[in-house]
Amino acid sequence: MNFPTLIIGGGISGITAAVELAEAGKEVVLIEKEPYLGGNVSGFNNYFPKLCPPACGLEINYRRIRSNPRISYYTGAEVSGISGSEGKFKVTVSLSPRLINNHCTACGKCAEVCPESPSPAAYIPGGLAFPMQYTIDADACKKMECARCLEVCDYEAIQLDAQAEEIEIQAGNIVVATGWKLYDPSKIENYHYSNEPDIITNLEFEHLLASCTRENKKLSRPSDGTVPGRIAFIQCAGSRDHNHLSYCSAVCCSATIKHALTLAEHYPKMLSEVFYIDLRLSGRNEKLLAKAENSKQITLTRGKAGRIRRADSSDGLVIEVEDMMAGRRREDSFDMVVLAMGMEPNQMGLELEVNEQGFYLEKQTAGIYPAASCKRPMDVVSSVRDATATALKTMRL
Ligand SMILES: Cc1cc2nc3c(=O)[nH]c(=O)nc-3n(C[C@H](O)[C@H](O)[C@H](O)COP(=O)(O)OP(=O)(O)OC[C@H]3O[C@@H](n4cnc5c(N)ncnc54)[C@H](O)[C@@H]3O)c2cc1C
Repeated sequence: MNFPTLIIGGGISGITAAVELAEAGKEVVLIEKEPYLGGNVSGFNNYFPKLCPPACGLEINYRRIRSNPRISYYTGAEVSGISGSEGKFKVTVSLSPRLINNHCTACGKCAEVCPESPSPAAYIPGGLAFPMQYTIDADACKKMECARCLEVCDYEAIQLDAQAEEIEIQAGNIVVATGWKLYDPSKIENYHYSNEPDIITNLEFEHLLASCTRENKKLSRPSDGTVPGRIAFIQCAGSRDHNHLSYCSAVCCSATIKHALTLAEHYPKMLSEVFYIDLRLSGRNEKLLAKAENSKQITLTRGKAGRIRRADSSDGLVIEVEDMMAGRRREDSFDMVVLAMGMEPNQMGLELEVNEQGFYLEKQTAGIYPAASCKRPMDVVSSVRDATATALKTMRL
């Protein structure tokens, strides 16, 4: 087993597997399809159970990657083929064009002169970027027709003619940590997500809160920029529903309670109402639920929202819901609605064994080990634990 372990997916799980293996003496190659490592967690405002920012957790891992010569990583990289067998896999990896190379010092001059709007084609994500370099969105950039960034870059970091490449990696074994994506909210027709800008998903709400924290600005409604007074959170949007996802995504209740508590802390006049079937929070997150139950700004209502529609006479959104505790049908108006969408697995387009919901099964061809949230919905603590256990399994030979 002289070849390195290949880890596919650079979210918190893939990163964890990489640092644990490297610190145990294994060579590791980590590949991530996006331009930056960190996965979903890197875009969060804060994360439960402690409600700390994503930097707490990611930063230490980025330091572990930087200081460990056994880890090499590729971003903008996707596996296009795997052949061979345990101990001697041959993996073909497609690398997207890197219009900014490793000479970048993140000075930001390229973004300052980029004429593309509303956002420049040269960018670095807010928060904690790893690698700490700018990226150019190849689809938005006019390349040599514009080339303003090329003129201002003092470090020869811009290469507007860069092409896609294909490389081959030999690997002893493979950890698959490709994570999750949200279920498509437009599939729930009675919620009208696609044509109502003030109906957003829990992940969009997370990103909205993160940009408010970063830019020190107030939360505002997407439709008109006003600060909302009342926000509804609809649980199990498409989850535990045989027409959509039949299973529970395990993290949405905790994520919503986290959102409602964050609003209560920063906006003393804002009211949140959570519509749920059951509230499923466990472990340390139960403390968050107790805090929400005691908050005067948060109402927890047992009832499945049947329909959301625009109010006839105001600019609000009306939720039609069966209030189960009051035993009556209710219609109420809100300024914004957040849909707690469930998690679906990210699949790689390669032939791996999946269950009926599309999550990777534990047992695969010898030498291939799925880890964490591509196997079932998981929070960060469970993902880190599972990724560490998976790293151990790869070392059995
Ligand atoms: C709205 C919301 C809020 C949440 N809040 C919390 C919270 O507060 N606390 C908490 O503990 N959990 C929370 N979670 C759950 C948390 O997001 C997951 O536990 C965590 O993201 C799992 O990490 P991961 O690395 O397994 O997956 P991901 O974060 O999805 O990372 C997977 C990585 O793999 C990459 N990838 C995918 N396919 C490929 C491919 N083919 N090739 C290369 N790379 C690929 C992706 O780009 C990504 O970077 C929340 C979930 C949601 C939906």
